[in-house]
Amino acid sequence: MSFTLHGLAVSSGIAIGRAHLISHATLEVAQYQLRERSVGAEIARFDKAFATVRTELETLRKDAVVPGSPSELSAFVDIHAMILDDPLLAEVPKDLIRERRCNAEWALVQQMDHLVAQFEEIEDAYLRERKHDVVQVVERVLKALMGKQRKLSRRGRSDDEPLIVVAHDLSPADTIQFKNLKIGGFVTDLGGATSHTAIVARSLAIPAVVGLHHARPLVLEDDLLIVDGARGVLIVEPDARVLEEYRLRKSELELERSKLKRLTTARAATLDEVLVSLQANIELPQDMAQVKEVEADGIGLFRTEFLFMNRDTLPSENEQFEAYRTVVKAMGGKPVTIRTLDIGADKTAQALRGAERQAPNPALGLRAIRYCLAEPQLFLTQLRAILRASHYGRIRLLVPMLAHVKEIEQTLMMIWLAKEQLRAEKLKFDESIEVGGMIEIPAAALALGPFLKRLHFLSIGTNDLIQYTLAIDRTDESVAGLYDPLHPAVLRLVAQTIQAANRAETPVAVCGEMAGDPAFTRLLIGMGLRQFSMHPSQILEVKHQVVMADAEQLALKVARILRLEEPDKIREQVERL
Ligand code: PEP
Ligand code: MG
Repeated sequence: MSFTLHGLAVSSGIAIGRAHLISHATLEVAQYQLRERSVGAEIARFDKAFATVRTELETLRKDAVVPGSPSELSAFVDIHAMILDDPLLAEVPKDLIRERRCNAEWALVQQMDHLVAQFEEIEDAYLRERKHDVVQVVERVLKALMGKQRKLSRRGRSDDEPLIVVAHDLSPADTIQFKNLKIGGFVTDLGGATSHTAIVARSLAIPAVVGLHHARPLVLEDDLLIVDGARGVLIVEPDARVLEEYRLRKSELELERSKLKRLTTARAATLDEVLVSLQANIELPQDMAQVKEVEADGIGLFRTEFLFMNRDTLPSENEQFEAYRTVVKAMGGKPVTIRTLDIGADKTAQALRGAERQAPNPALGLRAIRYCLAEPQLFLTQLRAILRASHYGRIRLLVPMLAHVKEIEQTLMMIWLAKEQLRAEKLKFDESIEVGGMIEIPAAALALGPFLKRLHFLSIGTNDLIQYTLAIDRTDESVAGLYDPLHPAVLRLVAQTIQAANRAETPVAVCGEMAGDPAFTRLLIGMGLRQFSMHPSQILEVKHQVVMADAEQLALKVARILRLEEPDKIREQVERL
């Protein structure tokens, strides 16, 4: 049966493909409901995985009888073989597959949880600890079921079949994994349009819709889906007519995109010859291919926190140095703005979990520069890595979430310390590296003087500036309707910051999502903005707007818009620009 769900449009384009359901808590184990006709095959898959593990254990047992091998090994193999053949593990999950139509991994994990809970109630400590053996055996079977890749995988599907991930929620750390897989699009029940999950979707240039509320429980594995990322619509099992319409629309969009490619080598200058710099936002060094393809003028924002995600240990100074050097060398002399770790709020990293304090309101908590100043060793390691990479090109250092002058001063002290250490170790770096600050807290925008005095450049983070000005959690779909870049308070803060920086001759950019939205290009040019940073996939569309704009005329019109108070009037005038 065909049905349609409406959510928030976060990454435009159209994806047509098969549903792949994943658990909201973790990407480790897929959880989905089978169609009746797939149950037999799933049980066969389950049995085959058990047989594989049985053979593995047999091989281990043979190794165990070799003279010199520890006696514990054969005892351990015996216990694991016994657990593997216990009907509680080998048979009961099959009932779940048959009766509840759970996929094999999910059925197995449910039964494991049940058994572990029973073990935990045993008084005898030795027996209680056997729960670890159960978990280890289950992990072996899961490995056999899913192949070596324990994270999200395409599960043996061919590369030409677009896969659409359906989840209750996805973290930015989950979504960043899609960079290595061919994912056609994704949809989630939770999430806001400028959450980092949505930002990663845009950087991947894959259609995505969030805040659908009921997609995860209603969609079945392998359902045919259409994701309309521009309108925020998910169509499940579309009829032939709708499918045909969308196929047509999709090829039209592809044609429009390929036409835009002609602008790649064009100068980004307005009709009245005002030059505009169009730079790229990246999350990982592997994004550089896309940056080069559109010939971005530089990297305006490298969100380094993504280097810290999906791993158990922190990246060392050398590992970070290599990542930063790769990017700066690839840019061949163009500026590369590296932002120091902006962890916290919706961006978490398991390697940092021990150090992270669980805050009741994480967006207002120990995030970004606050976290770094509270963890000086971690911060120093990153600063050293960035400084060392600055020897290989033009790096600018960007500090997120500043509100207080003392945060700038403490940061500058840390940079001084990192430089002193490198000098003592005779390691080379750019002595005159520029240091800039993100303007993304209203307090910073309203009291800009000290920022202009102490910093070489500014970058306006409109995503957070809007979140904090309007008191809207950018990840919460229930207040997403109130998240409004055109709110007069937001427009004034952005315009004032740009104009004050221009007067002080301090370079200023916008690197939030507003910069990559072609609907706002003319507005920002009219405010006096000359540096934009956005996902590489947006650069040509924004350039298309730039080359058709007249900066002088826009300045006059935008000055009038900034005096308006009525949201509808503002919207209407911005559309007419
Ligand atoms: C912003 O807040 O606008 C920004 C660019 O930073 P992030 O989205 O990573 O918080
Ligand atoms: Mg921000």
